[in-house]
Amino acid sequence: MEERDIIILGSGPAGLTAALYAARADLKPLVLKGIDAGGQLMLTTEVENFPGFPDAVLGPELMEKMEKQAARFDAELLHQEATRVDFSSRPFGVWAGDQEWRARTAVIATGATAKMLGLESERRLLGHGVSTCATCDGFFFRGMELLVIGGGDSALEEALFLTRFATKVTIIHRRDQFRASKIMRDRAVAHEMIGIIWDSVVDEVLGDGQVAGARLRNLKTGGLTDVPAGGVFVAIGHTPNTGLFEGQVELEGGYIVVQEPTTRTSVEGVFAAGDVVDFNYRQAITAAGMGCRAAMDAERFLEAEGH
Ligand code: NAP
Repeated sequence: MEERDIIILGSGPAGLTAALYAARADLKPLVLKGIDAGGQLMLTTEVENFPGFPDAVLGPELMEKMEKQAARFDAELLHQEATRVDFSSRPFGVWAGDQEWRARTAVIATGATAKMLGLESERRLLGHGVSTCATCDGFFFRGMELLVIGGGDSALEEALFLTRFATKVTIIHRRDQFRASKIMRDRAVAHEMIGIIWDSVVDEVLGDGQVAGARLRNLKTGGLTDVPAGGVFVAIGHTPNTGLFEGQVELEGGYIVVQEPTTRTSVEGVFAAGDVVDFNYRQAITAAGMGCRAAMDAERFLEAEGH
């Protein structure tokens, strides 16, 4: 079986940037794009904060451009999802069903998935007023009333950030106390533009083509209330896509541990980049930067090994 220099798992900004750099270093990378090829940007509309696009770019269009750019330099991209890996000895083994590849290095860039409420209306209006990222989308909601769902640090951070644009931000939490740290709780509660609705969940996101509000259900009384809003920010946490790597590389809280400032994981020759590592910044540009570092780390590793 042919032994590749590098195999990249994932095709969001981290995976595709790693592919671009590896391809331009003549490593002929193989990219297993995954089922949700393109990652979280495929679920967004306008991206205004990726440098180089002064008039914004659509998330899916940006990912298509990144893929084309990697392919131009002979990255091989397959629309397949890795179903098993073996990092216990080199060359590493990667499988998609019955198909098997061997590689001297691997880059894990499988990303993270924002947790969703699981409502049909939420899915339908994602990118049309439903968002999972205030930093990315807050700017589009200037002058509107907004809802933030969740009670952890993410929800409160998003709510505080959104007060820059919104006329009012209401946090909807399913219990009567926040899970978030004390400092964030204090800030959110004290903020004059932030309101809180306790003990409530969203039964339905309202709106036809664009979010108009949400139907809330009080878990203590069962009562339903319709609240008008121009945007609904779901901030109930993220799940790193690392199920495949359990027992293979070191994880912490589900995220892959790397030896900062490098992208080295606990296994020599395996590197990781993007949201699968980074639960802090979670931006396309930071993921792309890390993908670049992972490819350069892999290239230097191969060179040191005499390949
Ligand atoms: P989290 O701490 O797991 O909080 C998730 C919140 O969403 C909880 O309040 C939870 O409610 C609620 N929730 C979960 N599923 C829900 C559902 N289906 N419907 C309604 N509500 C739901 O997640 P996170 O806020 O993303 O934080 C993750 C980690 O990153 C934490 O360790 C956090 O401290 C850290 N973080 C830190 C900062 C910071 O320091 N600036 C910022 C962001 C994140 P319950 O409380 O009832 O479970």
